[in-house]
Amino acid sequence: MWVIKLAGLMASVPQFIDLPLLIEQRGELSGEFPLVSMPRLLELATSEDGCVSFDLTFGKDAQGIDFITGHYRASLQVKCQRCLTPINLNLTGKINLAVIENEAATGELPGFYEPLIHGSGRLSLPALLEDEIILTLPMAPLHLIAECPSGDLLREYATTRESPFAVLKGIKNK
Ligand SMILES: [Zn+2]
Repeated sequence: MWVIKLAGLMASVPQFIDLPLLIEQRGELSGEFPLVSMPRLLELATSEDGCVSFDLTFGKDAQGIDFITGHYRASLQVKCQRCLTPINLNLTGKINLAVIENEAATGELPGFYEPLIHGSGRLSLPALLEDEIILTLPMAPLHLIAECPSGDLLREYATTRESPFAVLKGIKNK
């Protein structure tokens, strides 16, 4: 299963990208990676089923800063921290990265950029997306009360308990 998914991925989107080339050519990339291509994110999930779709634009801005901007949409299952059963998580986010060579350049960046320190060599696209998603993952994901199995007790209490208005109504009808 894992191999098939990965083979499909290789055919559609490259896992590793040539960042300087994409920046120079003002490239655009969009596609989808299966959750199994992101091992750190997979570790936080309760199921292998899940995927991350993205669209990215590469280029150099007016100040000469190399950037990667775009969006991602991730869907995966994680554990509800109230009832410990799976919860479907759908996350969307923006990507605004400034590509810099070392930490020293971080201070010079406009505030809307997050620094991406990348010297040379290939860049793993799933790893880049994975980093972004892990940062925005809720610390304690929870079902909505109405959908949480451990919310049953709360709900029963709410429905069996007679409301003060029902009591008043009973008096009035006597
Ligand atoms: Zn729950």
